[in-house]
Amino acid sequence: MVGSFGLGELKFEHVFTAQLPADPIGPSEPVRPRQVQGAAYSRVNPTPVAAPRTLAVADEVAALLGLSPEFTSSEEFAQMMAGNRVPEGADPHAACYGGHQFGNWAGQLGDGRAISYGEVVDVHGGHQALQLKGAGLTPYSRGADGRAVLRSSVREFLCSEAMFHLGVPTTRALSLVTTGDQVVRDMFYDGHPAPEPGAIVCRVAPSFLRFGSYQLPASRGDVGLLRQLTDFTIATEFPQLSSPQEMFVEVAERTAKLVVDWMRVGFVHGVLNTDNMSILGLTIDYGPYGWLEDFDPDWTPNTTDAGGRRYRYGAQPQVAAWNLAQLANALLALEGPEPDVSPYQQALEHFAERFHTGYLEMMAARLGWGTFRDADEQLIDAFVELMTAAEVDYVILCRSLAEVPVDEGVTEEETLSPIVEAFYRPEQFTEEIRARYLAWLRMWAHRARTSGLSDTERQQAIRSLTPKYVLRNYLAHEAIGRAENGDPSGITELLEVLRDPYGEQPGRERFAQKRPDWARTAPGCSMLSCSS
Ligand code: AMP
Ligand code: MG
Repeated sequence: MVGSFGLGELKFEHVFTAQLPADPIGPSEPVRPRQVQGAAYSRVNPTPVAAPRTLAVADEVAALLGLSPEFTSSEEFAQMMAGNRVPEGADPHAACYGGHQFGNWAGQLGDGRAISYGEVVDVHGGHQALQLKGAGLTPYSRGADGRAVLRSSVREFLCSEAMFHLGVPTTRALSLVTTGDQVVRDMFYDGHPAPEPGAIVCRVAPSFLRFGSYQLPASRGDVGLLRQLTDFTIATEFPQLSSPQEMFVEVAERTAKLVVDWMRVGFVHGVLNTDNMSILGLTIDYGPYGWLEDFDPDWTPNTTDAGGRRYRYGAQPQVAAWNLAQLANALLALEGPEPDVSPYQQALEHFAERFHTGYLEMMAARLGWGTFRDADEQLIDAFVELMTAAEVDYVILCRSLAEVPVDEGVTEEETLSPIVEAFYRPEQFTEEIRARYLAWLRMWAHRARTSGLSDTERQQAIRSLTPKYVLRNYLAHEAIGRAENGDPSGITELLEVLRDPYGEQPGRERFAQKRPDWARTAPGCSMLSCSS
């Protein structure tokens, strides 16, 4: 049976499970939550669901894996992506890792509801691990049910692909299937649990290793496993490198680049715990993330984070640095009882430096100035400050700069009219705000004139670095509402728009508009619960 359509086309070539130690308790024994020592993963089978149905497929990911549209639209595919039918050659397992949650060491976490089939060879000859999120209980499920609800699965599916098309490193999403089962969640943690439709996303990435994967063995003094994991990571992911210190420098570099991208597109991860930090520098674990609408560096989408705002937009660089420091602490365990911390310290300083310069270079480029010059920093800081002075849509404002004329002698009206649309409350566009924007735009225009770029080059640069279409929180919310009412077409419609975030896409402007007023405080739009 398998093969006629195509999971024959999925060629498993196991890397992770073939090279790292397994939990001796295998899939034939009943799954019970427990501490797993001395192992990188536990073999465990997905728990079957009632009635799998494919709601959406990311065709680019299917193509990357060499899967035909005939196969991804088949019943067999839905059964496999729901975990009901394990593909031939797969090696289902859940990974063991720990992590710091909200700054506190949480001990063992692990894949509590994600079950990986293992790696397949993609059309470029690389490895891609396939992982079902919401596939049932594992030894790492702790007190939870191993399942995921439709709303959070739609959000993970769409955002993974949105990020990819934005050019931001990310895990991918092959498919979104509903399970036909209900999952009970207390969405607002207010004592009102209710059944919701269950769903499973198949995530795809070369590796799902996290900072917490190294932290857990280090915390247990299991230097042998830590060394195996580190050697494995270097050999499979960073073959050009030769030591854990070099690996750390590379991870820090990638993380710096990642956070610059998040700041550029206005993405707020929302739960940057160390178990949600990818060793490959990918955006991973889409939970209560959000997109900046009005520019507010203090905004966090995560209700659980509302008190301390640890994971607010503006704090992401510092949080990433803190998380890297935890990874460094873990890797230091490889260096014996009196390790030399200086290479790691230098790498952390290097991260701060790389982020800072990367951020300034990105801002200069996205403002249409070409290459960053030292004097630009002040003007960039002034811009960021200005964006907080009145409620203004971050991506609409930055992109509208492409329409602002830079020639000497343009009128106030000509300078300001392209940006007016970005303001959320017209009454906030006061004389004072007008004057401040005008003053800044004149300096911006002057700087643009000295850039050596033509008008077309500048406009093109601005539009290639600030998207027109992002996964606005309310858009995801609308698509979810429709899907919950039996109409999944909003998901594919959004996916289609998000495929070309930097293009103009005439006729689809509705998806590029400011958040409507009803969504300002609506649950699921402005604030998101961790319950998923
Ligand atoms: P997250 O906040 O999504 O990164 O999850 C933190 C930890 O909780 C991870 O170990 C997850 O696998 C686990 N987890 C989250 N939701 C569930 C669930 N419904 N069932 C089992 N484990 C879960
Ligand atoms: Mg996680």
